[in-house]
Amino acid sequence: MSSKAKILLIYTGGTIGMMKDFETGALKAFNFSKLLQRIPELRQLDCEIETVSFENPIDSSNINPEMWDKMATIIEEHYSVYDGFVVLHGSDTMSYSASALSFMLENLAKPVIFTGSQLPIGDLRTDAKENLITAIQIASLQEKNKPVIQEVCLYFEYKLYRGNRTTKINAEHFNAFASPNFPALAESGVHLKVEQNLFFQKKSRKKLVVHKNLDTNVFVLKLFPGINEAALQSIIQIPNLKGIVVETYGAGNAPTDEWFIRALEMAVANGLQVVNVTQCSGGSVNMGQYETSTALKKLGLISGKDITTEAAITKLMYMLSQNVAASSFKTIFETSLRGELT
Ligand code: ASP
Repeated sequence: MSSKAKILLIYTGGTIGMMKDFETGALKAFNFSKLLQRIPELRQLDCEIETVSFENPIDSSNINPEMWDKMATIIEEHYSVYDGFVVLHGSDTMSYSASALSFMLENLAKPVIFTGSQLPIGDLRTDAKENLITAIQIASLQEKNKPVIQEVCLYFEYKLYRGNRTTKINAEHFNAFASPNFPALAESGVHLKVEQNLFFQKKSRKKLVVHKNLDTNVFVLKLFPGINEAALQSIIQIPNLKGIVVETYGAGNAPTDEWFIRALEMAVANGLQVVNVTQCSGGSVNMGQYETSTALKKLGLISGKDITTEAAITKLMYMLSQNVAASSFKTIFETSLRGELT
């Protein structure tokens, strides 16, 4: 007997549920129950929907790892009862949250779909309805009574992406996200076109394990022509710092100045995990391709390959919280854990 899919809608905040403050004119989060009143269409969907809301919905610029723990806990506590989860989240940091949750939810066998909108749900021209309705439909997809999608995804403006491959690219367009190094998992047009061959292939059928308390002793350093020694030194000497994601140029290239290399050498010698990611929106780090990355390769920097900065920093936080042995840190980081790198 096949029953209707049960979907849990988790509202964390974001524009989708915001309204204008009468006094200031600024957008701020409002009560979730109003959100449901605004979309009676939800009742027409062929699934059972229940909702849970953050007590204080937030603009996603205020997201932090404790809130990722909250989201993970909600999913953990309701995991056995629901077939899928849709997380309503502000778009500003949605790619960070989707990346973080992908690492925190090990052996995930059900869909966790992040979505939101650029315009509030009450706005006449809102993009919220399509995003929300299709995200719920995607989370409800079942085959032989099993969820079709078994990973953390992000649905926005007709495209379903692997969450940890995404980045926010536009603050104005409805098409606000891109997945520069991995194709969309599904596209919604007249029909929903699902690319099953691209779905994350889990290696085991183990039970869900939820990892919380990510380690925030990390930093993202974006290189720029003119970066000086004092700035770099002050970063690598941050007390308790355990890891840095360095956004380098092109295929993982950086200045060859002696002071620059010496500083990174000192960081590595002090036990810092240093990850090399490219500040290009597409393509991959390939240390050794140019002379300007040979020294980085020799220092044993971790290659982020084609990972996004969002996935790199959350993977670093996750791995540091797992007390991964220093000797295997680089190998594990350079291996795909949740389909986040090629
Ligand atoms: N500032 C909002 C947020 O990220 C933007 C959005 O929801 O799209 O919460």
